[in-house]
Amino acid sequence: MNNVTVVGHPLVQHKLTLMRDKTTSTKGFRQLLREIATLLCYEVTRDLPLDPLDIETPLMPMRASVLSGKKLVFAPILRAGMGLLEGMLDLVPSARVAHIGLYRDPESLVAVEYYFKAPTNLAERVVIAVDPMLATGNTAVAAIDRLKEHGAGELRFVCLLATQPGLAKLHAHHPEVRVWTASIDPELNDHGYILPGLGDAGDRLYGTR
Ligand code: URA
Repeated sequence: MNNVTVVGHPLVQHKLTLMRDKTTSTKGFRQLLREIATLLCYEVTRDLPLDPLDIETPLMPMRASVLSGKKLVFAPILRAGMGLLEGMLDLVPSARVAHIGLYRDPESLVAVEYYFKAPTNLAERVVIAVDPMLATGNTAVAAIDRLKEHGAGELRFVCLLATQPGLAKLHAHHPEVRVWTASIDPELNDHGYILPGLGDAGDRLYGTR
């Protein structure tokens, strides 16, 4: 599938299996999501451009490399996206954060916005939207719509689990947005849950059910 990277790294797959297991505790689930987030962040930032920088080591001057341009923006979709955010900030501590509050209406599965707060100059930054579950794609499309309305140009999407219909919906609306995921699961049930999936990511993360 175009524009989709499935991160098959053994550590990602091992941790994902532990997260899917229904006997994994809230504490374990949260810790694993944070750990996988750092690995997904490593992959999504793999091709970022570098600028040369002249520095001096204790032994001699050298021309080294640093990330080019303005600070990255991570855009977690509340609330489950917060579980990925911490691990990504572990790897890129100076990134800016755009919070996007969206919930799925349980009947229509349509995304409803209740909060949006983003840094300035989104147009000049690489913006990485994050949500563990790309299920129907409705929430992802709504989040990317809002980020674009606020000027975002270069956008990427990181999730833990995706589905074919979710990816198709996202790319029908935003074909240029590349997606990184740990798995593309086969099905969605009638309530919009991913099968086999891992359940409700927000509930498992925060112990709310
Ligand atoms: N959101 C979740 O938390 N889980 C799913 O399976 C689908 C959407």
